[in-house]
Amino acid sequence: MKFNPANTIQDLQYFGEFGGVNPSISDSSTYTFLSAKTMFDTFEGNADGCYLYSRHSSPSNLYLGEALAAMEGTETANVSASGMGAITPVLLQLCKSGDHIVSSRTIYGGTYAFLKNFTPRFHIETTFVDITKLDAVEAAITPNTKVLYCESVSNPLLEVADIESLSKIAKKHGLKLVVDNTFSPLSIAPAKLGADIVIHSLTKFINGSSDTVGGVVCGTQDFINQLRNVNDGASMLLGSTMDSLRSASVLKNLRTLHIRMKQHSHNAMYLAKKFEADGLKTVYPGLESHPSHELFKNMMNFEYGFGGMLTIDVGDIDTANQLMELMQERNLGYLAVSLGFYKTLFSAPGTSTSSEIPEDEQLEMGLTDGLIRFSIGLDNDIQRTYQIMRQCMEDLKILEPAMV
Ligand SMILES: *Cc1c(COP(=O)(O)O)cnc(C)c1O
Repeated sequence: MKFNPANTIQDLQYFGEFGGVNPSISDSSTYTFLSAKTMFDTFEGNADGCYLYSRHSSPSNLYLGEALAAMEGTETANVSASGMGAITPVLLQLCKSGDHIVSSRTIYGGTYAFLKNFTPRFHIETTFVDITKLDAVEAAITPNTKVLYCESVSNPLLEVADIESLSKIAKKHGLKLVVDNTFSPLSIAPAKLGADIVIHSLTKFINGSSDTVGGVVCGTQDFINQLRNVNDGASMLLGSTMDSLRSASVLKNLRTLHIRMKQHSHNAMYLAKKFEADGLKTVYPGLESHPSHELFKNMMNFEYGFGGMLTIDVGDIDTANQLMELMQERNLGYLAVSLGFYKTLFSAPGTSTSSEIPEDEQLEMGLTDGLIRFSIGLDNDIQRTYQIMRQCMEDLKILEPAMV
């Protein structure tokens, strides 16, 4: 039977202290011990089931972590205060001064900035490659390379990483394959395809209500223990811990993720087909015109679809800005960064979420001026949404009025 991440989340059971259907929220930063010996053992990492201090772990964070590990099919997971609070400790745990990273060049702007501008201070160098060119990936590996880094579906260009092939390359060269799966929860399960570590920004689809930032690292018990080690664990020492109240609230939202993803994907597929038929340059992995359409199909859990993200190119930044403002005025969504909200969100990545990437590099990777990135919402009547969007485009002369 194929791995179905939503079933494994659903099969978990936790009860509250008094039989509540939701687990009790742990509201403590510190924990008492009955004996001094147990406290010592816990410091040494040898007292399972005991809590020490909430930067290390808390019951609420463990519940959420276990649910996300079930979703990704990994042994365990560690939640963090943001997606960047998951990504940065992982890279710093895996690499020391003198080490090298091979990374996809089309990644989240914050991750790109971290690798390009920040880690070189610690003599950790990164080579950025076109992740869809496997020979270029392999050619970039040096004797010092420790990590192969990519996003399963990249931000904002929606390039798809061939995780199985990348994992073979990683194994051959003794590297850890780290995959950011933020854009495709449930649809793609990178660990099942050979990724060593899977990361999410929980801020996006998984939490889905745009009310918090959050992150998670899913991996082996051994690696998560390393991250949490009180002596040299990057998550423990850098301190980007999620608050227990927040992790309880993210866990409740996670339980409806499968329903939301189906609707996001359904709506995005509908619009992508319409936009493409209208002659707009449209990028969506669900379209046959997408260069990695077949690859995505081979990797995906079908019922969750091709995800909620799509891009169109309307030619230039002024037109893009006018269209976004008009769509917002007509209540089709919000001109905002981020993704996974119930309402459609749109932004021009070149001047916002990917502005960390220098202009010439943006052009080289196909990040054009008139690109609009959409996170398609949960609209009940997507046909109506399309008609109003189409009217906006006609009013701005992006499209000719339809023949009646
Ligand atoms: C938003 C995002 C991040 C960063 O997550 P934060 O929660 O904002 O720290 C990382 N990767 C991807 C793909 C993202 O979209």
